[in-house]
Amino acid sequence: MLKNYFLSFNCFLPIIFILNAITLPVKSSSALAAWSLKSNGTLELRTKSNSKLNAYYQKSNNFFGDRVWIDFKGELIQPRKIKGNGPVKEIRLGKPEEGKTRLVIEFARNKKLNPYELKLVGIDENKWRIKLTSFQRNSFKTIREGNVSRSTNSSFKRVDLNTIRANSSDFSNLPNVRKGKFYVVIDPGHGGPDSGAIGIGGLRETDVVLDVSNIVTKLLKEKGVKVRMTRTKEVDVDLYPRVDMANKTRADIFVSIHANASRGKKKNINGLETFYYSGWKGRLLAEKIQKEILRVSPGSPDRGVRRGRYFVIKKTNMPAVLVEIGFVTGRLDARRLEKRIHRKRVAYAIAKGILQYLNRVG
Ligand SMILES: [Zn+2]
Repeated sequence: MLKNYFLSFNCFLPIIFILNAITLPVKSSSALAAWSLKSNGTLELRTKSNSKLNAYYQKSNNFFGDRVWIDFKGELIQPRKIKGNGPVKEIRLGKPEEGKTRLVIEFARNKKLNPYELKLVGIDENKWRIKLTSFQRNSFKTIREGNVSRSTNSSFKRVDLNTIRANSSDFSNLPNVRKGKFYVVIDPGHGGPDSGAIGIGGLRETDVVLDVSNIVTKLLKEKGVKVRMTRTKEVDVDLYPRVDMANKTRADIFVSIHANASRGKKKNINGLETFYYSGWKGRLLAEKIQKEILRVSPGSPDRGVRRGRYFVIKKTNMPAVLVEIGFVTGRLDARRLEKRIHRKRVAYAIAKGILQYLNRVG
């Protein structure tokens, strides 16, 4: 009955889809560890590390008010309903099907959400936040189960070890391309006296991106792709010579690798983004790379594939992208970027995106 009840509504809107490499076995306990719907209208969640979450919105109809629901892997021990207050009618925790947990927030009929403003954001490896609405002052009292802000230090270590094991075989699983056919320029951002962004614990963008670029280059060469780097050590190279080298040597594609910093060095700002300047090829290359780097950075927000007017992607004649592999100033990203194993994973992801693009576009 519960199943039909959810399936009988045909138009729901997925809010965001976050895919991670690791998923929990079907019969395990619910990945939802704690939640809190706060009086400011924000829903916070704590999950098992590396959980896969799907969030949906459904407009009100004759039977229900506006609803938002989030699906988690694993089953609840005790499905339950919790009475809301003010503009929140009810909160339900259920089992829509085997091996799944669903958290439903149903609003009162007169409370309308704006689905285009809903975005589920990973703020830590096991913490999530979604701003549902703004409640009028004192109209809603926080409802929660468990503690959403419990420390996560131990789970971080465990996940890193798991991922190392899961990924160690992947390095040989990159897609093949025709040997000797393609030529790629890799551009490690900054260098020498220009260190780029400086992050937590003195983590320097220039070091991070040079290491990642070196590994990308090695992986592509192993696949028979010709690669040149705009710099191979800690030297300062102006932007113009980087572009000029790619244009003069007629590279097939140009990939500039950077790490981000937030204004004011805010530790809660993390995420990955990839820029292109123009053309469907540039966009496709950006999409392939963005998708792959997200897979190796669970919980770090997807800031998307975007158009950018950066010199190195604007002035290059070939499809060109600039990838930001995380925030050296962000707590979640910096903790990872300082580790070689994560830099290897990111490099692997970038190489994979590039090879997929080359296979597709030829
Ligand atoms: Zn940079």
